[in-house]
Amino acid sequence: METRYIFITGGVASSLGKGIVSASLGKLLQARGYEITIQKFDPYINIDPGTLNPYEHGECYVTDDGQETDLDLGHYERFTGIRTSRDNSVTTGRIYLSVIERERKGDYLGKTIQVVPHITDEIKRRILLNASKQHFDFVITEIGGTIGDIESQPFLEAIRQLRWELGPSRALNVHLTYVPYLAAAGELKTKPTQTSVKQLQGLGIQPEVLVLRTEHELGDDLRAKVAHFCNVDVPAVIQSQDLPDIYEVPLNMQRQGLDAICLHKMGIEPGPVPELKPWRAFLERRKQATREVHIGLVGKYDLQDAYKSIRESLSLAGTYNNCRVRLHYINSEQLTPDNCAERLMGLAGIVICPGFGVRGLEGKIAAAQYTRTHDIPTFGICLGMQMMVIEFARNVLGWTDANSADTDRPTAHPVIDLMESQKNITQKGGTMRLGAYDCRLSEGSRARQAYGQELVRERHRHRYEFNNRYRSDFEAAGMQCTGVNPQADLVEIVELPQLRWYVGAQFHPEYSSTVLHPGPLFMDFVNVCAYGTAQA
Ligand code: GLN
Repeated sequence: METRYIFITGGVASSLGKGIVSASLGKLLQARGYEITIQKFDPYINIDPGTLNPYEHGECYVTDDGQETDLDLGHYERFTGIRTSRDNSVTTGRIYLSVIERERKGDYLGKTIQVVPHITDEIKRRILLNASKQHFDFVITEIGGTIGDIESQPFLEAIRQLRWELGPSRALNVHLTYVPYLAAAGELKTKPTQTSVKQLQGLGIQPEVLVLRTEHELGDDLRAKVAHFCNVDVPAVIQSQDLPDIYEVPLNMQRQGLDAICLHKMGIEPGPVPELKPWRAFLERRKQATREVHIGLVGKYDLQDAYKSIRESLSLAGTYNNCRVRLHYINSEQLTPDNCAERLMGLAGIVICPGFGVRGLEGKIAAAQYTRTHDIPTFGICLGMQMMVIEFARNVLGWTDANSADTDRPTAHPVIDLMESQKNITQKGGTMRLGAYDCRLSEGSRARQAYGQELVRERHRHRYEFNNRYRSDFEAAGMQCTGVNPQADLVEIVELPQLRWYVGAQFHPEYSSTVLHPGPLFMDFVNVCAYGTAQA
């Protein structure tokens, strides 16, 4: 089948869940046997979100091939199990950078470089790029931002042109808007949606399908009204009512026939509705789970989205362990050796979160010491693992000045250090160890038992490494290096086998944990948190 393109835009407000709707539509099409991919086009000028503060954009998600991307790619992968790549995440910055680089090389042969056609052509090229490398039946393209933003204009112009060039059987516009409820009037209001669609129409884009985000059920009359005002068929007005669980969204979309309508509009006979059996079984399990397990996230960002994939990975692992994970944020900047007992009270386990910079480092070290000496299950991820290593060096090996070379403190024991190959790099952004690397797990280790195999691949995003100079000292004192990259001999996992669960991973296992295949380390960790010791 020739590749079809679905463009998803958003209007009225941001944060309506375009990423979740895109992921859900992808999931539903996939369940019908189609090969799909989902990509995100972000209008900001950063080359990638790698240098963005998580307070502004939430977590930075990393693909297998090492692209730092928007957290929506995490939703795409968790929902559909697809693997995204650098071609699935594009920003205005990257578009301009490639056009400007070509201009400098003289590729444009003296032409005046303009937003239309040069920038829009580059956007179009990138929209089509994924399917030029590998076959896809559907490429879903989510356009970041909200209709009306100045910086979205070139993207909208590009999808307008593509829809025209490809025709109605190969391209489709889906627009997501918000229908607010005015409590004082006791009414749902469709005017913002009408205005948003008018704005799109003014740009030459007629959405064929509307998804209306709402907190209250929209009656048939309101859906008919929206359809009437927006030149859309009534069945193509879908409501996306707030649900207690984002993983319910695909079923809600399927009930209203979002996927069937998209297929129908592109001239494809939808056929029978897929059962989505594994997905339903997962949701059923989630509902059945009543046992609660309280896990602390020790980090410096008091913002849900900053640790999005870790939160989701823990929650998913909870479901498969028949329990509900309740997460508690613990600000590492306020943790000291004196208040750990009080701040970590009642937690079945803690995750020491990744991060950059020196803020909150000592608090993470204090947490690692407390949980190590009280045998509280602890999972250190990236920076979290590095802090476990420093804590062990200071308090077990007795190297009181042990530190990471990442901090300015002078130390005779840089137990976490820069790799030689990185010492001359001054540029920020994209210069880290990024993407998936092999990791060999030692026989008999906790990690090996969790994964059930010797060789695994997980994604990285860091500059500093465990300093191999000290490996034998750590091992002699009881901290085992149980995961090692076979090519570079870099330490990827440390653990304390005598404790119930004390594991640090230099990589980010949260990036590859999906709804149907939760990450093994999360599964094992939550299992021990919930039941005290590992249960079969
Ligand atoms: N700042 C640390 C490093 O660069 C850890 C990074 C992280 O946690 N992602 O090595």
